[in-house]
Amino acid sequence: MIKKTKRENLKELFLKMKADKELPLRETATKLVFGAGTAEAEIMLIGEGPGRWEDEKGMPFVGNSGKFLDQLLHSIKLPREEVFITNVVNYRPPENRDPLPEEIEAFRPYIDKMIEIIKPKIIITLGRFSMAKFIPGVRISDVHGKARVVKWGKRNLTVIPMYHPAAGLRNGEMKRRTIEDFSNVPEMLSEVIENEVEQIEVEQMELV
Ligand code: URA
Repeated sequence: MIKKTKRENLKELFLKMKADKELPLRETATKLVFGAGTAEAEIMLIGEGPGRWEDEKGMPFVGNSGKFLDQLLHSIKLPREEVFITNVVNYRPPENRDPLPEEIEAFRPYIDKMIEIIKPKIIITLGRFSMAKFIPGVRISDVHGKARVVKWGKRNLTVIPMYHPAAGLRNGEMKRRTIEDFSNVPEMLSEVIENEVEQIEVEQMELV
């Protein structure tokens, strides 16, 4: 049997999600905002939920927060096309209210499947809702910008919690901190890759 590519698997997931009539927020939203970027991404970014512009275009982070996110990615020479961006809920909550726990839970299997397909080396969480998915019970002000390894199924996953870009737009100090936190991402990615290579070498040595 020919193995499907990551891209084909993501496309299949998109079609399944689009057809899922059980998903909350579907009735009040305009478009499903599945996610955007490459299925081969080493870095996946997870935000909160679509706002007005995202709902209209069906793409994540295309409004003001998205412009700031683009600047942040540009500052570390990482074009949007090389990452994958999604949210913890994929339909817009009415009036941009916070997503409810049961809504996040309803979308969870889809987000988990995206992670399983893409197998990113790093997940950057944007804001407290996506941070809580991986690192519950902490305050974003205490942990932002610090990488942590979490157990994710059979894999270890490096998660870097960041402030939501919208917070940076409201508050100059948070903007400065977010820019600084992003500036450390390339080095963190190199470390993750180095560790993986070492791990493979250890496994190979154990085989001989
Ligand atoms: N804010 C988010 O959390 N996600 C988006 O896609 C847009 C704004």
